[in-house]
Amino acid sequence: MNVKKKIYFFSQQKTDGTKSMSDVLGGKGANIAEMCRLGLPVPPGFTISSSVCGSFLKQKQLSAALKKDIQKNIRKVEGLTKKSFGGRVPLLLSVRSGSKFSMPGMMETVLNVGLTSKTVRALIKKSGNDRFVYDSYRRLIMMYADVVMEKGLGLGKKDGVRSKMEDMLERMKQKNRYKNDSEVSSESWQALIEQYLKVIKDRFGVEFPDNHYDQLYGAIEAVFTSWNGKRAKEYRAFEKISNKLGTAVNIQAMVFGNMGKDCGTGVAFTRNPSNGKNIFYGEWLPNAQGEDVVAGIRTPQPVFGGTKKLSLAGAMPKAYKQLRAVRKTLEKHFKDMQDIEFTIENEKLWMLQTRAGKRTGVAAIKIATDMVKERLINKKEAISRVKPNQVYESMLKNIHPDELFSAVRLGSGLPAGPGASTGQVVFDAGKAEKLGKGGKQVILVRNETSPEDIHGMRYAAGILTSRGGLTSHAALVARGWGKSCVVGYQELKISKNKKFATFGDKKIKEGDWITLNGTDGTVFDQKLGLFQQPIKDSKPLQELLGWADRYRKLKVRTNADTPEDCERAVAFGAQGLGLCRTEHMFFDEKRIHQFRKMILAEKKETRIRRLNKLLPHQKKDFYNILKTMDRLPVTIRLLDPPLHEFININNKEVEKLSKDLGESKKSIRARVGRLREDNPMLGHRGCRLGVSYPEITKMQAEAILGAALKLKKEKKAPKVEIMVPLVGTLGEFLDQKNIIIETYKRLSKKNRQTLRYKIGTMIEVPSACFSAKEIAKNADFFSFGTNDLTQTVFGFSRDDVGTFFQTYFEKEIFSFDPFETISEESVGALMKMAVNDGKKGNPMLSLGICGEHGGDPKSIGFCSAIGLDYVSCSPFRVPVARLAAAHAEIKKTQVNE
Ligand code: PEP
Ligand code: MG
Repeated sequence: MNVKKKIYFFSQQKTDGTKSMSDVLGGKGANIAEMCRLGLPVPPGFTISSSVCGSFLKQKQLSAALKKDIQKNIRKVEGLTKKSFGGRVPLLLSVRSGSKFSMPGMMETVLNVGLTSKTVRALIKKSGNDRFVYDSYRRLIMMYADVVMEKGLGLGKKDGVRSKMEDMLERMKQKNRYKNDSEVSSESWQALIEQYLKVIKDRFGVEFPDNHYDQLYGAIEAVFTSWNGKRAKEYRAFEKISNKLGTAVNIQAMVFGNMGKDCGTGVAFTRNPSNGKNIFYGEWLPNAQGEDVVAGIRTPQPVFGGTKKLSLAGAMPKAYKQLRAVRKTLEKHFKDMQDIEFTIENEKLWMLQTRAGKRTGVAAIKIATDMVKERLINKKEAISRVKPNQVYESMLKNIHPDELFSAVRLGSGLPAGPGASTGQVVFDAGKAEKLGKGGKQVILVRNETSPEDIHGMRYAAGILTSRGGLTSHAALVARGWGKSCVVGYQELKISKNKKFATFGDKKIKEGDWITLNGTDGTVFDQKLGLFQQPIKDSKPLQELLGWADRYRKLKVRTNADTPEDCERAVAFGAQGLGLCRTEHMFFDEKRIHQFRKMILAEKKETRIRRLNKLLPHQKKDFYNILKTMDRLPVTIRLLDPPLHEFININNKEVEKLSKDLGESKKSIRARVGRLREDNPMLGHRGCRLGVSYPEITKMQAEAILGAALKLKKEKKAPKVEIMVPLVGTLGEFLDQKNIIIETYKRLSKKNRQTLRYKIGTMIEVPSACFSAKEIAKNADFFSFGTNDLTQTVFGFSRDDVGTFFQTYFEKEIFSFDPFETISEESVGALMKMAVNDGKKGNPMLSLGICGEHGGDPKSIGFCSAIGLDYVSCSPFRVPVARLAAAHAEIKKTQVNE
């Protein structure tokens, strides 16, 4: 490729670029070039390479050499169109942005460039249509004032020239009783133009440029400048697009959809972007210019379907036929659904743009699987094309796109549980449960959630908290249930009486409606319409995941604590249970009370007595889970609660415990006080509990192994794996392992029965990674607890990151959340070391991950690369993980090819 080349010409006759040159030409320029190569009707023009953008932004001017090059290319366009720029048969130009990655609506466009007092007269003479010419002129003036003068050159003290001009247009239409722009007379346009020119002079202190080249250079410079516009920068930060790429500029001969009744303009998708059906889907407007369709000034008409008179198929059958043929050619060539823009000038179709169309998750899956059947792509391509998060999105509720235009945003927090929810605000879990059970839609709003809120969370449509990060209690529970959840919304302050809350300046009362978008963390001040595509019977999804299963090597398990969740996960394709958090089994209101009694026991004998009361419940739970997961591996983790999660109790509960235990409230409070820790997340939890209270481990081992032995007697095939949490040293692990083995021996003897089972450990503190080889010599498996590993490697408290993480993202200290995606250079490096050392210690060691990262596509790729055997994630993420694991494998083969 010629690196010095700055301008690439395109036309149906001769084209320099190709579709693979989006680095240089931007996506739009590359695809325009490709359409030309396909012989499609594209107005001629040229693309200024995106490499020029960087130098322009530094030098703040276009070089003389570039201007010369531009003029040379304009002459070529003049030759092909038989028009002349600034001349008697005037050539008008469009100037559009286009970067490598699509940034819809984020950068600028100027149309009708080249209309001056001289060419206006010439064009009227040539076209015999003064109304059309003035309509085009007023559009140029408004766009130019906004894009070039106000935004590009920064003229004027305040912004908003476009909205001022739009208001003037509205007033003119009202005064003359015009319903549509297309009814406005030539005289009215002329009067408006006079007013516009005056606004420019008054606001900016300069005249609107009346020279065609001044206009063109101004427009090109403004498009380059818009690369660094606020909107564009924010979009890039969100989409993780590099700031270095720059935008290309496409300069193209104008064709006119606003020249009369046999003209029009439209946008279309070659298939339906919402549901993926293979039906031509688009909108158009007669006698209009491109921006009118997207601007929503007039209600667009369907390209296909609807009433015959309105549809393009009915109104302009000749142009429609051309468009239908183009649709076919484009899909066949690009082998993907395309999003196209077109203009019809005197019934002749002109193509202005094509690109891969944005689509919902449901549509992505349907289109990919349909295209395999249509032999446009193969299965591997179909798998690669669907993003894992599109699978997730296809399973959740979303806000109706139409509703988002007018939605009032309250603010935002961290996106903890994707999908949308709408409901009436309640600040109390009990109330959430009561109303939810009664069929009301409620959003539970809390400072933070604790196990005690679980019953309310279950019945809430969505959960919002002011504190907490992505691995906070609320986030974990919400994701596990596929519930929409926003956490760490710091501007939220709940009143003491729990009757209202302030969201920044705004007061929201109990019973007011709000909507959460848990996918991006936004909260809206009203009820919004939601939609959900039914997935249960989604054949395309099953089909795609079936193909993915054939590619992937990583197994996918689930994190679940109930038989119902296990069943759901198996239906989603889980191949085992990777983490059963046994503390979650005590969240039930009655059980939590028993559990508290156990941890409040001062003496060992009392604790054993109370543990024995819990034993049958635990055994039953494990029995049911193991039965549901028969023949599949089931990893059950010993108790790992930070105790503060259980003893954060109110007066009522203290009273209840006091009555029940026959102890004074004072003594209960004193015991609770003694158990309280300054840093519970790093305190008396995990195996540390089992080391100090071996009777807890004994009870749990007895419940697990007892349940498995019972199942074996019933001719089932339980595959139990007992997992010790938060191990840092070999000593801790062996201490717990010995208790489990002793318990097994006792039970086995008593039942006269043997059982094959495994004992392993979580790897979730750095010390365990450093001791991996020695621990592995004694362990059957490792499961990486990357929530805690991230917490301990960074020294960030999982529960408190919500208070400062936002600033970290804003200051770009973090480009991603390490609690969501594994930080490969730190947490990942330790994992890699533990995997290698662990395998040295025990070549048969089984390796998995059960932290939240186990459901994150990028982290899944990493887990596959370092050689884990499985990932484990919440039931709703299982299908995501199946696809991501296939992607990881396909990527490996691509690297090797
Ligand atoms: C972890 O730390 O990654 C883990 C799975 O355990 P928990 O989230 O329950 O601490
Ligand atoms: Mg943990």
